[in-house]
This record gives sequence, structure tokens and C-alpha cells, in this order.
Amino acid sequence: MALLDMHEWYDLTRDTNWTPGYVAEDELFPPEFSDPFGIPVEQWETFDEPYKVSYRDYVETQRDKDIGAYSVKSALARADFFKKASPHWKALLALHFSPIGFAEFHSASAFARMTRFSRAPGMRNMATFGTLDEMRHGQIQMYFAYEFIKQDRVFDWAHKSSKTENWIIISLRHALDDIEHTRDAISAAIMTNFAFEQGFTNLQFIGLSADAAKAGDHTFATMLQSIQTDEARHAQIGTPLISIMIENGRKAEAQQLVDIGFWRIWKQFSALSGISMDYYTPLEFREHSLKEFMHEWVVDQFARNIKALGLDLPWYWDYFLHDVETFHHSQQIGVYVYRATEWWRPIACVSPAERDWLEEKYPGWNDTYGKCWDVVIDNIRNGHFEKTVPEVPPLICNMCGLEVTGVAGVGRQVNGHRWNATDFHLDHEGRRYHFCSEPCKWVFELEPARYQGHRSIIDRVLDGTVPPGPDGFYEYMGQSFEERGVCGYDYQWIDGYDMPRAAAAE
Ligand code: MN
Ligand code: MN
Repeated sequence: MALLDMHEWYDLTRDTNWTPGYVAEDELFPPEFSDPFGIPVEQWETFDEPYKVSYRDYVETQRDKDIGAYSVKSALARADFFKKASPHWKALLALHFSPIGFAEFHSASAFARMTRFSRAPGMRNMATFGTLDEMRHGQIQMYFAYEFIKQDRVFDWAHKSSKTENWIIISLRHALDDIEHTRDAISAAIMTNFAFEQGFTNLQFIGLSADAAKAGDHTFATMLQSIQTDEARHAQIGTPLISIMIENGRKAEAQQLVDIGFWRIWKQFSALSGISMDYYTPLEFREHSLKEFMHEWVVDQFARNIKALGLDLPWYWDYFLHDVETFHHSQQIGVYVYRATEWWRPIACVSPAERDWLEEKYPGWNDTYGKCWDVVIDNIRNGHFEKTVPEVPPLICNMCGLEVTGVAGVGRQVNGHRWNATDFHLDHEGRRYHFCSEPCKWVFELEPARYQGHRSIIDRVLDGTVPPGPDGFYEYMGQSFEERGVCGYDYQWIDGYDMPRAAAAE
């Protein structure tokens, strides 16, 4: 029997729906999973996916993508790229694989929920492919990280991280649980597909891939591109959903979902992509700064998409633009000085040449973040390594789980120094919650019951959840002695300052 061409059958099958006979509609599609907005099924059936693909074509394309990525990997495996790679690039790979691998794998579950509970047949098709995509991404990220375990045990964290209570993992898990895994299929799709994937995956998968290709890591660059072609397809699930919501009088709800999802994922990418692009990528291989990539891929493109759909820019847009230039610089200081709490080996990446680049890309960097680094540098030069590691725990945001930071050298005067860090706190049902920013606090206030039970890593230290003693904290976070970060560059990054460094004691 001859096979029909796709155009001869696709439109007939893509919107096939059925009326349940054995159970009530609400039992098959419980509103709390399928549609808390009460939009009629005829409206959901207008869902029209912009990218149409059949299962037969999907499998063929995916097989070719896998062949491409895995053959680049095996052809280059013998090149010993990793052994020769700089400590910067090793830190970047370890930072990428540990949180991203499990995030991809778990995304399969979010798409499976859309597949099961969406009332739009076309969306169920697309989400089925999305589920398979994310399984492939989880597998390829794990497999590509696995290659490095024999060189460096930190790559064990590609698999291990999601099972730990490490503070960075808690932070990411909180964001992903919120937007991907604990809401109805429609809300999760708007937040995941539109705000997260259409908003941000270009940044990590195309922007970073450009850096990787320049750095000669063609295996990593090919893997990132292979993943991004899937993301670009399944991210499109979000767009028709927002249109249906707006047409059915639910614009305010759609807007709020976008505003929450976009903010929550921005904080994660700011730290992840910001540190990767502006610090860990070796200077000679940097394609663009985070700010430049953000303006190209997110500020311009995403803002255009939002407006084209009939939504408004998130209310915090001006603050977001400020955050694009500031937040990751502060986080990089925190990541370096609290390095023992991370499983990889962080690098400061603020040698004199790197500072020149930072000052050029972020005018004023030397007068703000640079002043903080000067203190670290002086301590290293004088052999006071213990002074480069704070004893006091940081204030952690009860929403994003990252450090409450500010910009040194600006803002109000405290003890002769200017500092604009602000604890946006809130007292709620007998507890004080701390937030790094107005938007993080705003998300909490929208639905306190959803968030109030979560305890940050510092809350857990104070309430006795974390065992006492010097090792209790690290053991709680899943970090044996060998899994506690030390300076990945053995302090050589301060070579080039006008005094030689003291011998490293770490
Ligand atoms: Mn993915
Ligand atoms: Mn995805």
C-alpha cells in the first residue's frame, strides 16, 4: 500500500478529538490539571501549532541529529580536548552539565503532563514530540558529560546533582518545580515553552555554542546546537496558547504567567550564562558579553514576540534591564568566595586583561565590582587565603535561592562605603522572608501558600535541619571533602598584578 503524503492526512488527524463515553469530561480532563481558566473545548481545538511535523518525519530528523552529534563526539574523542582545555573551560563545562542535564531530563515529565492533560489535540501531538525531545536532551547531556568522569570526578555531578541539597541545586529546582512541574498543563506550557524556552534557551544554546566553537570545543558546540533545534520547535507550543487565552478574556492571567516565568528563569540564566560567558569563557574566545547576547536574543527578540502576541512587557522591565548589567557580576563574587560550597572549581577570571574587557563591556565595572575583587586580590598577594573565604553565611533570597547582592560603590553610604544591597523582606504568618529584589517578593505575594513552606539553605541551617559541626553543612549538601570547590586556577589569575602572589596554601 502506498503511503500518503503528509499534507494529504495531517490536517485531518492533527485536530482529531473525541467525546468520552465511559467517564465524564471532567474526570478525563480535571480542570485543575487541564484548564483552570474555564475555556470551552471548541476554543482549545482552535490551537494551531506553527510548526507541523508527523511522527514519521520526526523520528527520521531526530535520528539524523543524533548521528550528527554523536559522530562529531566520537571523531573528536581522541583529540584529548579536555586534557588540554584551560581550567576556565573545565569550570564552564562542569557548571553547564550539572544543572542542565537533570533540568532537561525532568522537562520530559512537564511535556508528558501537557501531552496527557491538554484539551487541544494539536498541542498533545506537539507535546508528545517535546517529551521525546527532552528525553533525548537528558540522555545526550548525561552521555557527553560521562566522557569526562575519568578525567575529573566533578562530572559525576551531571547525574548526582539533582539528588542533592546543594544550595545551587535547591535554587534551580525551586524555579523549575514552580514553572514546569507543579501547575496545570496550560500554565506550565506558557511558563515553560514561552517564557523559559522561547525566552532564554537561545542564550545558553546558541550564544554559548558560538563561544564553544571559537574555543575549539566542537563536540560541545554541536551538542548545544542539536538540542536547540528541538527547543526552537517545541517552544512554539506557548504562542497559540497565549492567543487562545487572550481571545477568551484571560489576558491578565496569561500576562501574569509570563511575568512570573520570565523572571524566575532569568535569575537562573543570569547566574549560569552570565558567569559562563563573562568570566569562564577564556578571553580570546569570547563572542559577546552576556549583556550583548541578552540584548540580541532576549531584550529585542523576546520583547517583540511579547508585543506581537498582544501582551505587555513585564512590569519590572526597567529593573530587569538594570539586572542584566549587574546581577551576575555580584553572583560571580559570591560563587568564587563561597567556592567550597560548589562541586566544581570556580575561577575568579578577573586578571588585569579580563578586567579591561569587563570595563569595556560594562563601563564602571572597575569602580564597583572591581573594588570588591581588589580586596580579594590583596589578601591573596599577602598570603591571607583564609580571608578570601567568608565565615558568615550569605543572605539567601527566599524565592530565587541565590544570594541577596547589590552593587558596591553606588547607593547609600554605610560605614564610609557605598552599597545598594537591599533585603526586600516580608513578614508573613509569623515568619520573615527575605528577597533579593522587588520581582522575587512580588512572585511570593501573589500566592504565599505556594511558596511559604520552602526553606532556603540558610533557613535549614538556622532551624537545625542541617547537622551541626564543620562538616555537617557540606555533608548535607552531598559534598565529600574532595567535592568541595577550590580555586580552579590555583590563584594564578592574579599573575599580572604588580606584585607576585604568595604561595598558594589551598
Ligand atoms: Mn531540552
Ligand atoms: Mn525544552
